[in-house]
Amino acid sequence: MHSLERIDRYRLERRLGGGAFGTVWLAHDDALEAPVAVKVLAENWAHRLDVRERFLSEARLLRRAGSSRVVQVYDIGELPDGRPYFVMEYADGGTLADRLTDGPLPVAEALRLTASAARAAAALHEAGIVHRDIKPSNVLLRTAPDGSIRLLLADLGLAKSLAQASGLTMAAGSAGYAPPEQTEPGTGIDARADVYSLGALGYHLLTGTVPAPPGKVRPPDRLRPDLPSEVRRALLRAMEPDRERRWPTADVFADALDRLADDPGRPTGTSPARDPGRTRRRHGTALLALAAAAVAGGAALTTIVLLGRTAAGDVTVQDTTGRIEAAVPAAWARQLRDAGWDPKALGLPTGQEPALAVADDLSHWQDLGTEVNGAFIGLSEHGDLAARVRALAHNGCRYEGSRDYHGAAWQGRIRTWNDCDGGEGSVTEAALTPADGTGATRVYVQLRQVGGSDRTDRILDSVRVTG
Ligand code: ATP
Ligand code: MG
Repeated sequence: MHSLERIDRYRLERRLGGGAFGTVWLAHDDALEAPVAVKVLAENWAHRLDVRERFLSEARLLRRAGSSRVVQVYDIGELPDGRPYFVMEYADGGTLADRLTDGPLPVAEALRLTASAARAAAALHEAGIVHRDIKPSNVLLRTAPDGSIRLLLADLGLAKSLAQASGLTMAAGSAGYAPPEQTEPGTGIDARADVYSLGALGYHLLTGTVPAPPGKVRPPDRLRPDLPSEVRRALLRAMEPDRERRWPTADVFADALDRLADDPGRPTGTSPARDPGRTRRRHGTALLALAAAAVAGGAALTTIVLLGRTAAGDVTVQDTTGRIEAAVPAAWARQLRDAGWDPKALGLPTGQEPALAVADDLSHWQDLGTEVNGAFIGLSEHGDLAARVRALAHNGCRYEGSRDYHGAAWQGRIRTWNDCDGGEGSVTEAALTPADGTGATRVYVQLRQVGGSDRTDRILDSVRVTG
């Protein structure tokens, strides 16, 4: 293979580095006359359609985050040999991994950098994205025009998590950064997974050592005896194996780190014992609280895992157990909660069952007066789901009646409500059973749609349940 000199309009200058998934080049954008960084997916992954798709969906998600704390993506494309690439802003200051080559950083600087990374992670969380791969080589530094240094978060861990889940690889060096829930399949990931990795990042910056795996982390002051005990406590709290005991959000962790940078001996305020109430799930009373019930835990928890696109241009999404899959219009697939639900929300026997909720705005799912497009799909294998769905009513909406649905895979009765809270919104619900009348699988589907054509049948047709 001869070496690359140019990728589209980008003239390659030198290789900046390479990781488990690709190579990053410094290139020159001849049209805009500016340096850029181009990341090309490694050849050995390029044939894997799922990894490819996630590589590109990372680029789209980084773009969607639209935050100055997250690396900007300018362009995506494909080499003639089929390898996908994306073009991003060039971070001239290297990475935090480069900073670590000379050993641990001064305490206040390490705390400020970690706080800054935590604020960048919070911006992603705000956009409904969990990073999943925060570590020094994915935190970039860029010199601003005024000479100050800006920190940028790069490189979501989506492709990596997929490769891990399929047992293919565990990239070296990431182990001490991953919380336990990220390596145990089926537990579900939320923003607190990043809080763990941020704690590990701070630990590494302060001690010069990658932390041991979750639960075995050595207190950082053993490695750096001058470290104030408050700093040790703040880091270890971020790295609690039980996420309920961690700092509840990346922003709260950032606040604590900034306070410590000002005065390392000062207590950081919130104690773990007082916090769980804040992170507990809110128990909504409305029947539409289902998307909330789909979230195990609390905080602003969304993970986007886009598996691919259908011929019709819809986006395929999956829950964390991998049992449920469905395709929804791309515009709906902004946020995904994939960690299961408790069918008790419908008055069925309590339990933890696979479920996913995908929507353009999940935070307003319960509020019928808002314009939300999305789908909730949950399994319910105990109790009479059809009877419960028949009994549902949505105050504030006009009941349109019901009709039979008979698709290739599923059948059931569809009930529809329109004009919710005087607006254009509708709610559609169905309890599905296999179309061939076999098996005990029961699926509860709730759709919210605003205007446009009715996607109900198309979405029901796309639902797949395995296992
Ligand atoms: P991993 O595959 O586990 O993410 P990694 O982060 O080292 O490992 P890449 O993400 O492929 O690997 O990046 C390789 C290196 O390229 C980074 O460590 C960094 O030095 C450099 N790099 C990546 N993106 C940029 C960028 N936008 N600007 C400048 N340098 C970058
Ligand atoms: Mg990287």
